[in-house]
Order: sequence, then structure tokens, then C-alpha cells
Amino acid sequence: MAVPTRALLDLEAIVGREHVLTDPEVVAGYTTDWTGRFIGSRSPVVRPGSTAEVAQIVGVCRTAGVAVVPQGGNTGLVGGSVPLDGELVVSLTRLTQVDVDAAAAQATVDAGVPIARLQAAAATIGMGYGVDLASRDGATLGGTIATNAGGTRVMRFGDTRAQLVGVEAVLGTGAVVSHLAGLTRDNTGYHLPSLLAGSEGTLGIVTRARVRLVAPGTEPAVALLAFDSVGDAMAAVAEFRRAPIGVEAVEFMVRSGVELVCSGDRVSLPFAVSYAAYVLVEAAGNDEVIEPLSDVVAAIAHLVRDVAVATDSPRRAALWRYREAHTEAINRVGTPHKLDVALPAAALAAFVDEVPRRLHGWNPSARVWLFGHAADGNVHVNVTGVDPDDKTVDEIVLRLVAEAGGSISAEHGIGRAKAQWLHLNRTPEEIAAFRAIKAALDPAGIMNPGVLLA
Ligand SMILES: Cc1cc2nc3c(=O)[nH]c(=O)nc-3n(C[C@H](O)[C@H](O)[C@H](O)COP(=O)(O)OP(=O)(O)OC[C@H]3O[C@@H](n4cnc5c(N)ncnc54)[C@H](O)[C@@H]3O)c2cc1C
Repeated sequence: MAVPTRALLDLEAIVGREHVLTDPEVVAGYTTDWTGRFIGSRSPVVRPGSTAEVAQIVGVCRTAGVAVVPQGGNTGLVGGSVPLDGELVVSLTRLTQVDVDAAAAQATVDAGVPIARLQAAAATIGMGYGVDLASRDGATLGGTIATNAGGTRVMRFGDTRAQLVGVEAVLGTGAVVSHLAGLTRDNTGYHLPSLLAGSEGTLGIVTRARVRLVAPGTEPAVALLAFDSVGDAMAAVAEFRRAPIGVEAVEFMVRSGVELVCSGDRVSLPFAVSYAAYVLVEAAGNDEVIEPLSDVVAAIAHLVRDVAVATDSPRRAALWRYREAHTEAINRVGTPHKLDVALPAAALAAFVDEVPRRLHGWNPSARVWLFGHAADGNVHVNVTGVDPDDKTVDEIVLRLVAEAGGSISAEHGIGRAKAQWLHLNRTPEEIAAFRAIKAALDPAGIMNPGVLLA
């Protein structure tokens, strides 16, 4: 539905006319998702400057019966951040305060702060933030909480939920809940940060959070390992998963993705020849880590066909680029179906082999791109060459995941893209509990309708 003029005037009175955007050219960047697959209506965008303004906006929307899409950096990949049915976009990007508390090794951070800025703020006291992802310059703290983002450091520091000590949010009721004292020991009932993490804007709008900071490792070393098969690569990943200490990230790629990145970036392949599979490992570069890791290296030596190691920053970045440039490179090929799934460790290699077989059996034009956060069993299945609206792709891949005992969303969330398949992972009783929580915190049903719960 369109946002009524009366409501727009009320919003202007709250945030100022300059922060209610209606010009179709200006709102275009807020209404189309990063992949280009989800193109929303040219809805108005409101940009609050404080939690109090967010609460007033939710009040106006409740009264007017206007649905709301909260938005951070709009880097989400499951169609949850854009107004597909004329909703009002509430952009949090004007909430940009970061307060680092060195004594507590925590920070209180506004929802609109990009992850790269939070990392830089943490670095000012010699610490880091536990979540890192290739979209760090755009993805915001609020968006990463709403999607419970994972990224490349989950094996070491956990997902976004694991970083949260407290949140402040405006619920769908209009109530502000704020619990930011930063007490790490605090067993006083329901843990709202955990509930809001992964809620995808369906319960309320996160405006601030208290996050823990982490001790950065010493100067890391990065190794890119080449293998003849995905099976060999996954056998090596299993060894790294069991490594005693210091392994921070274990990522995987396959031949087609690395070749695509190299052709797009006009850089050479990592080795003289192409290999079927690659594993990128980052570990702290000090002796206490390198020594015990030598046992792991010995255990996988018979599987590794080639290796490149980088210890200085530019060469580390060059090796990481092979992995991190995948998402952009695939987007250049065409609008992708993006399916981010998790598999049990034992099922990973078979899944990676089977997905292209099944999809080509259905449509030989399908081009399948596979890569991911191997340590966590997280595979990104991207499919181009087929109609972006043809849900057969999703049906084939997500059913295969469920058959193998996996999760249909490892880290990107359910959004609109996967809402109709939630039942593959959640029982009717669980979905009923989800709906009861939604009804309690968002009784008018205005918070991101159609996302997560179809
Ligand atoms: C190149 C690239 C690499 C990526 N790599 C990773 C990765 O490694 N791991 C990973 O997990 N994701 C990854 N992503 C996906 C994306 O960056 C994450 O989902 C991120 O958490 C989204 O943050 P955002 O601020 O852009 O949120 P948006 O895209 O704006 O929103 C995402 C969802 O959160 C809701 N939302 C946003 N802000 C709020 C708020 N303040 N309160 C309540 N709800 C809110 C929206 O309504 C929407 O449902 C990647 C994306 C790109 C483009």
C-alpha cells in the first residue's frame, strides 16, 4: 500500500522534511537490493536521527496502518531490506555514534554504523570486533544483528549473536527496550539480544547495541591450498577444524569461481594451473600457533597439490581477494539466485558435487557457483543463467539441503526469498511459537511483513 500523505506530513514533523525522501531517483538506491533480484516499489524513505525519532515513526505507522521495512546498508541478500509491497523504508544510516569502553572491552554502537567503522574504532584501543565479512564497508551493526550475520571469523569468535551484550530497540508495539549496561553476567530473564538477532526486522527496529570486543591475533599468516577434488579439500578442512589453536578462518572455493574472479579482476590464477578446489586458511602467525599447526600440515600434505603462503599485508590481501571477490564477480555474470546453506561436516563434499548435477539435470543453462565458509559447513550456492524469478532453483537446492540434514539459511537469513521453505527446517510447533512472539511484539503486523514468516 502507498504511504498516506497525512502520515508523510507526520513523519516530516518528526525528522525534518529533508529526511523524508520521496524523489523516485533518490529512493531508487534504497528500494532495489544489492543483487538486483528484488526490486521494490519507489516507496518513501524516512531517516531518523535518534531512537526517540524511531519510536515516534513506529507510532505514526501503527496509527496509519503503514508497514515498515527497516534498512541498514542494504547489502542483505534475501530480499528482506527492500519495500516489495509499498512499505515505508526506515533507514538507520543517520545513527552513527560509536563509544568504545576500554575498561570493559566493549562498545556501545548505533545501528547505522558500518562494520568497518566499528572495527576501526575497536582498533583505537588495540582490539577488534569479532565479526568480519566482505560487505564490511556497507553492512551496518543493526543489519548484521537483524540477520545474525556470520562471515569469516565464526569459527574463532562466533556469529553476531555471540558478540551481543545488550541491545536497544523500538518494538512493533512502539515500546523502546534498552539494556546497555554491558554486564556480561546478567541472568535476569529472557535474553532480548538473542531474540532480536536473526529476527530480520520482523519484531522491531534495533537502534543501538552493546558489543564485546575481541583481542586481535598477532600478525596473521594466510595460506591458499590447492586440491584435486572437493573431497580432498573437505578432508583438509576437517583437520583444520580440529586444529589446537590459532586458526581464525577456513574458506573454500572451486575452480570455476576462482577463474571467474581472475578474469574479472584481470589478475593471474594463484598457481600455474587451475585446480578443482581451494582452501584458504588464516592463522595467527606466531610460533605458539605455527608449531602445533605443523602437525595439521603434515596430516594433509598428501592431499595438497600446491600452496601459496603470505605473511605481509599486501600479499595476504591478494590471497583473500580470490575468495572475497566471488560475490561481486558472480553479480557481474547476471542476477543470481543466492542460496546460503549449511551442511553437516560429513555431508559437505557430496553436497558440493551433487548440487550442479541436480541443477543441470533440470536446466542445462544453469551456471552454478559454489564457495563458502568451510569451517562452519557454510556453502554459498549461487546460480546464474536461469530466470531470477524461477523458484525451481530454490526448490531443488533447499530440498537437497534438507535431505542432507542441513540448514536452508546459514547466515543471510530467510528474508522473502526463503520464507516459503522455512518449514523444511522448522516444525509446525516452532513456526507457531514464532508467530506467537511476532504477535506479542508486533501486534499490528507492521514490521517487515512477508519476511521470515510467509
Ligand atoms: C559482498 C557481500 C558479502 C557478504 N558476505 C556476508 C558474509 O560473509 N556473512 C553474512 O552473514 N552476510 C554476508 N553478506 C550479506 C549482508 O552483508 C549481511 O546480511 C548484513 O548483515 C546486512 O547488513 P545491512 O546493514 O546491509 O542490512 P540490510 O541489508 O539493510 O538489511 C538486512 C535485514 O535486516 C533488517 N534490518 C536492517 N537494519 C535493521 C535494524 N536496525 N533493525 C532491525 N532490522 C534491521 C532489514 O529489514 C533486512 O531484513 C554479504 C553481502 C555482500 C553484498
